[in-house]
Amino acid sequence: MIDHQYIENLLDEAKNTSKERIQEVLDKAQRKEGLNHRDIAILLQVQHKDQLKEIFKIAGDIKKSIYGNRIVVFAPLYVSDYCVNNCLYCGYRRDNDFPRRRLSWEEIQHEVRLLEQMGHKRLALEVGEDPVNCDIDYVLDAMNAIYSTHTDRGEIRRINVNIAATSTENYRKLKEAGIGTYILFQETYHHPTYEAMHPKSLKGNYEYHLTAFDRAMEAGIDDFGAGVLFGLADYTFEVMALMLHNEYLEQKYGVGFHTISVPRLKKAEGMELDSFSHLVSDDMFKKIVAIIRLAVPYTGLILSTRETPEVRREVLRYGVTQISAGSCTGVGGYKESDSGKKVNQFELTDHRSPLEVLKELISDGNIPSYCTACYRQNRTGDRFMQLAKSGQIQNICGPNALMTLMEFALDYGDKELLTMVEAVIREETMKIEEEDLRNLTLKNLENLKNGERDLY
Ligand code: SAM
Ligand code: SF4
Repeated sequence: MIDHQYIENLLDEAKNTSKERIQEVLDKAQRKEGLNHRDIAILLQVQHKDQLKEIFKIAGDIKKSIYGNRIVVFAPLYVSDYCVNNCLYCGYRRDNDFPRRRLSWEEIQHEVRLLEQMGHKRLALEVGEDPVNCDIDYVLDAMNAIYSTHTDRGEIRRINVNIAATSTENYRKLKEAGIGTYILFQETYHHPTYEAMHPKSLKGNYEYHLTAFDRAMEAGIDDFGAGVLFGLADYTFEVMALMLHNEYLEQKYGVGFHTISVPRLKKAEGMELDSFSHLVSDDMFKKIVAIIRLAVPYTGLILSTRETPEVRREVLRYGVTQISAGSCTGVGGYKESDSGKKVNQFELTDHRSPLEVLKELISDGNIPSYCTACYRQNRTGDRFMQLAKSGQIQNICGPNALMTLMEFALDYGDKELLTMVEAVIREETMKIEEEDLRNLTLKNLENLKNGERDLY
């Protein structure tokens, strides 16, 4: 699936692409047809200022026309930092000596309550890899603990799970436990770099890691999210390989990545950033986000609090559809941050609370969404993609985003947020063209104010 020489040859050839051919690719992108890996190689080699500007413009147009101004908000939850691997970039790696722990059922529920009090409805569950201290049964228990924690103001409605590559049997168990998206980052598709970064460890098996989504698919998980840890190998190679991986899955199973994450390497315990020679600058990062948006218009793009508020604000315009807010990347991190301490897997740069993030999103013209309706109505995998590609999803996501935003403002907002939300909602409901849908949305919004919840 990932032929290194083939990718390098394509990237080399693409350096000599004519202006006309570049324009052809840009026109195809503008038609929201998506791009193949040959087209992507061409865009990755674009250096001319005007052509780059055009890439950003089209990315912005695609974002607007498919997703409108909605941004889905979530938070990660770290429940265990035991790890048998030695990934050179990660604070949890086994060579780092620190007291490790995993949360008990009660501790998980405590963290979840704190997250629910921030208004979160959607979590990414995160653990290190340790078949003894953090086996699949522990992960399933953690999911149960999360789904069964209800506060008087809410509950977690969707758990995406980010755990190491595992067996078909374990994926089947995750499916039964109600997994949302199964998230796994390839970290790097560059085989020699992969081996160097993952010395003598379970995770060191490149093939096993690369074929994880095949096993997930076999187990019935058709909603999976990929990613590259940008900074480990050349980004042009990584984007090509990521897209080839997606094409492979689409061809074989009729469904590609549901989401793509774009984490950038951050300083972590036991590593120095300057020992990595492929760090990605802000400009490169923006180009990566925009090209992925052009390549796979219907795939969600996830950005975390690894990025500064300034970078986040800019790449939101070029295609990001989901962001985390108010995150901690340490086990028990929400409780710790509650009492002022910090324990992290890597350093974060955006430390604002969800309330602050939401206010900024709204002032920038975005509509933060806590919607989890697709997952709960079984709109996953190719069922979701068909709806998205037909444009019908707009009629579902738009009103749902408004309702979840109103719910957030009523339950977790302050007066300032509520005023902002009411103004946005007035404006946005007027834009719903279908009269029945507009009336239903208005009625539901009214019902929320009268105390009803979870309407979609
Ligand atoms: N342990 C599992 C694994 O490795 O697949 C689960 C995910 S781990 C808790 C979450 C992700 O954090 C990793 O896949 C990696 O890409 C990312 N990560 C690790 N160290 C990082 C760093 N220094 N900067 C940014 N992201 C990092
Ligand atoms: Fe462990 Fe995952 Fe960190 Fe690697 S990235 S050391 S597997 S937690």
